[in-house]
Amino acid sequence: MQEAKGLLSLNRIYRILKDLSINPSTESINKKYRDFSTFALRISVMFADDRLFDIIPRLETQLEIVRKYAPGVRPALDPYTSSQIGVFSKIDPDAEIGHFLDYPDCCIKSFSEKTRYGIDKSHIEELMKLPRQKGEKIFVATAGFIPCSALCKKARARGLVAILNRSEEENLKSLEGELSMALPHFHPEYQNHYYEIKRI
Ligand SMILES: [Zn+2]
Repeated sequence: MQEAKGLLSLNRIYRILKDLSINPSTESINKKYRDFSTFALRISVMFADDRLFDIIPRLETQLEIVRKYAPGVRPALDPYTSSQIGVFSKIDPDAEIGHFLDYPDCCIKSFSEKTRYGIDKSHIEELMKLPRQKGEKIFVATAGFIPCSALCKKARARGLVAILNRSEEENLKSLEGELSMALPHFHPEYQNHYYEIKRI
């Protein structure tokens, strides 16, 4: 179901972090989180050192808000949480961070091979080539995620991009506003900005 995708996708990240917060063994981390085990191990050590004590309650607040709005696309993970666990720090390989965030391999590969900054001209060109649909539409992507193609089916299936009716724009903007109010943080690029939204 389209509406549940944003919530399901955020809930997956929450469940991983919750699991890492209860001191799983290295062996189980390696087994369960094979695609991002270095990153997951580092997070579990930070939890054990009590350096991430405030992120689980923040994510629970984020989930509660996201549940109310039922967006078809996942908003960016709480930027404070992302900073604390090292998503932006470049310590771990991009591919591990990408797998943790459930980005598809095709998108991880295109991000590492081409230098792309957000939704760019070629994404827009792909969208412009689509047969005209009824009504005005918006293209929505999770902020920080750069799809290999605006039409990437895997990214769509994972609730990272979608083409939605323009009426959905208000809903997403309200969600962004409520998240900003409830979960203040200091990341300059993610102030009131949990989605990339382009009118098409
Ligand atoms: Zn892709």
